[in-house]
Amino acid sequence: MKLVRFGARGAEKPGLVAADGRIKDCSAHVADYDHAFFAGDGLERVRSFAARPDRLPDAPAGVRLGAPVARPRNVFAIGLNYSDHAKETGAAIPAEPILFMKATSAVCGPHDPILIPRGSEKTDWEVELGVVIGRDAHYLPSKEAARGHIAGYCVANDVSERSFQLEHGGQWSKGKSSLNFLPLGPWLVTPDDIPDPQQLGLRLDVNGTRRQTGTTASMIFDVLHIVHYLSQFLVLEAGDVIITGTPPGVGMGMKPPQFLRAGDVVELAIDGLGSQRSVCEPG
Ligand code: ZN
Repeated sequence: MKLVRFGARGAEKPGLVAADGRIKDCSAHVADYDHAFFAGDGLERVRSFAARPDRLPDAPAGVRLGAPVARPRNVFAIGLNYSDHAKETGAAIPAEPILFMKATSAVCGPHDPILIPRGSEKTDWEVELGVVIGRDAHYLPSKEAARGHIAGYCVANDVSERSFQLEHGGQWSKGKSSLNFLPLGPWLVTPDDIPDPQQLGLRLDVNGTRRQTGTTASMIFDVLHIVHYLSQFLVLEAGDVIITGTPPGVGMGMKPPQFLRAGDVVELAIDGLGSQRSVCEPG
C-alpha cells in the first residue's frame, strides 16, 4: 500500500496510490497521516477501503505532493551508516549508531524546491531510506520486536549544509535543519510491499549526472537494529521518521568538493519507493 498526502503546503489531504497509479482522496475516511492515525488503527482502516479504490474520488490531476506523513513529532537521523560513505568523509567506522536530530520544520514535499540557505556555499545532498514508526516503541526486547513498530518506508533527502554542520562548533543539527532540508516521499510504502528493506538500491543525480549509487545491503546497522537500538535510549513515537544514513557520493567527498547552486536539479530514487525531483532555489 502506498500512502500519499496531496494539496497545498500546510493543507495536505491524505490519499493513496491505486494500482493504476492514480492518486485517490481518502480525506472522507481519515483526517491525516499523523501520530494519532498511526497510534490508532489508521493503517488497518485505510487497508479496508484501499481494496476498492474505485469508490474513492480522484485527487486533482497534477496536484502537489506533500511529505507522506504529517509533521512528525521527531526526526531522528543516523550518521555514517554506510562503511563506504564513512570512508569518503575520512571518519572512522562507528562502533554504535551515530544519532543526530533534524528539526521537524525541515520536512517538505518530494518535489518542493531545495532552498539554499542565506550565506550558504556548501549545501549538499544525501539520498537515504526513511523509516516511519507505526507504534510507540520503548525498550524493545529484541531486534525482531522492532518489526511490528514500522509503518513503512519512503525516500528521504538529508539535505546538509556542510559549513553550518562542521565549521560552526557543537553538534551537526545546525547543518541539517534549514527550511526544506528534508524532502520526503513521494509515498509511504507499507512493509508488505517491501519484502526486504536491506536489499534496496539507492541513487541520486545532480543535473542528470549520477552522484550516488548504493544499496541498503551496505548499511553498517540495519533498520531493525536501529529501531531496537534507539528504543533503549528514548521513546520512538508513532509517526516519527528515522533516516538511516547515506551511501557514498556526496558533494563533500568529491575532489574537489561540489555543492548545490540555485538552478541545480536533484533527482533521487530508491527501489520500490519512487523518486523525487527538486530544483534548488535561493532560500
Ligand atoms: Zn544523512
